[in-house]
Amino acid sequence: MTEKTRHEESFEFQAEIKKLLNILSHSLYTHKEVFLRELISNASDALTKMRFHALSNTEHDDKELSLEINIDVDEKKKTLTISDTGIGMTKDEIIQNIGTIAKSGSLDFIAKLSEQAKKDSNIIGQFGVGFYSVFMVADEVRIRTKSYKKDESAIEWHSDGTGKYFLNSTEKEKRGTEIIVHLKEEEKEYTDKSRIQSIIKKYSNFVSFPIMVCGERANQITAIWKEPKKNITEEQYNEFYKFITNTEETPLFRLHTSAEAPIQFYSILYCPSANYEVYGFKKLDHGIQVYSNKILIQSDCTTLLPEYMRFIRGVVDSSDIPLNISRETFQDNRIIHKIKSILVKQTLSLLQDMAKNEREKYETLWRQFGRILKEGMHFDSENRETLAQLMRFNSSRCQNFDGLISLREYADRMKPEQKEIYYITAVNRETIEKSPYLEIFRKKDVEVLYLTDPNDEILLAELQEFEKKPIRSADQANLDLLKDGEKKIVDTTEEPKDFEATFNHLLKTLRLTLADKVTDVKESQRLSDSPCCLVNPEGMPSVHVQKLIQMMHSDYKIAKKIMEINRKHRLIQNLAKMNENTDYQQLVEKIALQLFENALMQDGIVSDPTSMVPRLNEIMEELTKATLGEGKRIII
Ligand code: ADP
Ligand code: MG
Repeated sequence: MTEKTRHEESFEFQAEIKKLLNILSHSLYTHKEVFLRELISNASDALTKMRFHALSNTEHDDKELSLEINIDVDEKKKTLTISDTGIGMTKDEIIQNIGTIAKSGSLDFIAKLSEQAKKDSNIIGQFGVGFYSVFMVADEVRIRTKSYKKDESAIEWHSDGTGKYFLNSTEKEKRGTEIIVHLKEEEKEYTDKSRIQSIIKKYSNFVSFPIMVCGERANQITAIWKEPKKNITEEQYNEFYKFITNTEETPLFRLHTSAEAPIQFYSILYCPSANYEVYGFKKLDHGIQVYSNKILIQSDCTTLLPEYMRFIRGVVDSSDIPLNISRETFQDNRIIHKIKSILVKQTLSLLQDMAKNEREKYETLWRQFGRILKEGMHFDSENRETLAQLMRFNSSRCQNFDGLISLREYADRMKPEQKEIYYITAVNRETIEKSPYLEIFRKKDVEVLYLTDPNDEILLAELQEFEKKPIRSADQANLDLLKDGEKKIVDTTEEPKDFEATFNHLLKTLRLTLADKVTDVKESQRLSDSPCCLVNPEGMPSVHVQKLIQMMHSDYKIAKKIMEINRKHRLIQNLAKMNENTDYQQLVEKIALQLFENALMQDGIVSDPTSMVPRLNEIMEELTKATLGEGKRIII
């Protein structure tokens, strides 16, 4: 045993990392080569931090050392070595950074990924676990690192990627990190210089430090955002996108800007083609890199674009942004605010053009990012009108569940006599289509927007109107659509004689029976097929939104509604007749309660089954008895 190994300390990986390593070594990634991208990206991060530090401090080791990445291969030993002259790590830092997962939730997320998604190498770089991807190809990894901090000693870390890792003190002369990857037998291809060069071309071409492969420069550093647009090929734009996002996707759009006045800045913004937020993971991190005259000063700037554009990735470069700007002062920086407002306007107008001229593409974008974009309706009052035009909905006129229309399209095809825009909220389209609220709309052939996200209802309620047309929920009590008395649905000729008094009597009975459950019982102008429904008093949000409120405030009670009954429905007519006979009072009340609860269920609220089931059984008992001529005969 050598002197060194006697000082070796052994550590267990955090349990989550063990799981992750297990997933990595057993999953069949489609592109294992991405491990190199991850290691280079870490080296580049360490170099960026070094450069940033050097700008404001003089206290660090190896000042003369140039900032670069070196890659060497050894075919015989089957090793690949990636070294950088970045900030390096102290012993504590290496334990912290490479033994634990800092971002909480990352692992939870990975564990929940479907088998298919686990194979998607795009995912690995997204969640702060990039380093571990090296174990897809390595059976042992050795890290030798020395911090830039004065008087820190070098440290060596090694692990075979199963349960443990080991730390030794070591000799390393210069600051920085060296990662020695011992390749698995079947991964020998990564000792091939040209293979390494081509991987770098593919993923790391835009790293802003020289990457030397066996002494030869492998990347071209170009700040393509500062180049005239005509000089940049489609391929370069896409390559650059892949580089900044660590993915292999092609973006849905890009926006290259070079502004002279009022502020000089350059930017390229991209919209990704997939939204990782939909995997149920936490909110996406912002993805704007900020440069000051080609020097990266922040890689995940949260202030240059609003929250609701957090899915946009890209770069912004302005020499008016001071190099030593801190995260805190970004917030208050006047230039940043000006650039932000220009970028937002440009992005929105690009989206509007796309919506107009490339409908299909815009719909793809909306399906992926609509849920994020529409947050702006609430938070960005300045651009609310524009965002309202960008919103898309399914509607009763759409052929299928996927159809999308805009408020403008809805407004354009409204009938001349229609004054309001209508929507209805429910959990899905199947439920919406069975909803009694829509009966009148169908009858009058009036289009209704179908909302399956209760947040949409909140946003539309906030918007109040579109092009001066009030936006109303179809389950509201007093819709303009119901006002035209002449076209009453109720055709009194089909009614039993003298039904008016009988019906009014039923209304009275129902009001008494349901006194503590509804605010009123009324004759309906909207129903044709259903016996009854519950409508919302003016201005009250739908049950779905109320449920959202309830989730946030557990003592919130769903508001009472108005019950509307369909005078033309046989069930209501029969009930009214039974109600004339005091013998049936109890049964009438039970049926009334059941009708109410049925309507509640149709509205998405499950009432108490422990009282409902006995009641239903009692009703059925009465009715079977009546059918058999026993008990109280129901003859009127
Ligand atoms: P991420 O890069 O998203 O933070 P990684 O798993 O790729 O996640 O890396 C984990 C951490 O290890 C990094 O955040 C960094 O602190 C540290 N690290 C990795 N490689 C290096 C390196 N070459 N030089 C300095 N620190 C490094
Ligand atoms: Mg990384």
